[in-house]
Amino acid sequence: MRGYYLHIPFCEKKCSYCDFYSLETTQHIDAFVETLLREITMRADDATDTSSTTPVTSVFFGGGTPSLLSPATLTRIVNHVRAHVAVAANAEWTMECNPGTVTAETLQGYAAAGINRLSFGVQSFTASELEFLDRIHSADEASQAMSLARAAGFENVNMDLMFAVPGQTYDTLQYNLQRMLALQPDHISAYSLIYEHGTPLFAKMKKGLVTPTSEDVDAAMYALVIDTLTRAGYEQYEVSNFARTGKRCMHNRTYWLCESYTAVGPSAHGLLGSTRYWNHRSLTQWTAKVHANELPEANRETLSTNEQLTEFLFCTLRAEGIPIATVQQRFGIDIRTALAEHLPDWMSADFVRDTGSHLTLTAEGYRVCDELTLRMLACVE
Ligand code: SF4
Repeated sequence: MRGYYLHIPFCEKKCSYCDFYSLETTQHIDAFVETLLREITMRADDATDTSSTTPVTSVFFGGGTPSLLSPATLTRIVNHVRAHVAVAANAEWTMECNPGTVTAETLQGYAAAGINRLSFGVQSFTASELEFLDRIHSADEASQAMSLARAAGFENVNMDLMFAVPGQTYDTLQYNLQRMLALQPDHISAYSLIYEHGTPLFAKMKKGLVTPTSEDVDAAMYALVIDTLTRAGYEQYEVSNFARTGKRCMHNRTYWLCESYTAVGPSAHGLLGSTRYWNHRSLTQWTAKVHANELPEANRETLSTNEQLTEFLFCTLRAEGIPIATVQQRFGIDIRTALAEHLPDWMSADFVRDTGSHLTLTAEGYRVCDELTLRMLACVE
């Protein structure tokens, strides 16, 4: 597996909780796209990046709000990626969409460009919660967006859901879940609201204007989400991600298995083997670097073997489980032996299962995932 990420740093309006790099404007899109195409070419020519020769299995347009791009502009970017990157014929092409920005025409245009998976940032179907989060769309617009997506032929659609939103009750969360399930998305990403440093929401919390949901309620809401979605036939295959059969997100799996991915656009982070890089988190700085024919990176670092192991265990445990043979091949560690002191207890407590090929978390294990991960890392360090 190999991924390719494109960051589109524009939004119609910033959401109060959002820490992703994006500008509240659409004015600079045309100039941005010209620069983005140049970065794609530069990365293809860069000797440390093999995306022009190693098949890329997933391409992901994230942001920001990629659905602010017109179909014609999106098509231009897609064609440029195809011309410079070795994209596999059956690759997953995902585009993040804000339900408040799509129309039948734009979705049909995205499908015609080759996008075969959409990810809608829905978050809630309760008006007061959408307002609290500063979302630009209503609940009905989110439902409408799904109808338009199906009509445009999309058979792989994700919806994001947020819980532990201040003012949210178990009833409104259950209502949100039922409205979402009624739309039959193929994949659901469910996240607890995080108070990220530097966001307006964080500032409000610091001033005492917003009280975060307690940890106990957060945990109970998470349990409600897991229970409701798994009963509805979705398979939990990562802490926050649920999929219908055959609809796991290939791009996210690339991240969770620590496979290489190229990333372009301001603030984008890439991983090339053991080297991690991150682009400037400023449209101005990123643009200046590309126009000077330099990779627009703020920095890059090479991970030590121990850092790679830590990251590999952290990511795989939270997702599809620790692949026992891969840990042996990549790091020369027999993971069952390394965890021998605690593994039997975790298995008898029904937190961890040994499938023969993987050590996976059970539903109970997902609920105590952070603590388990820390204890496992302590065992192998
Ligand atoms: S639309 Fe998405 S990227 Fe833009 S501010 Fe809101 S959450 Fe962030």
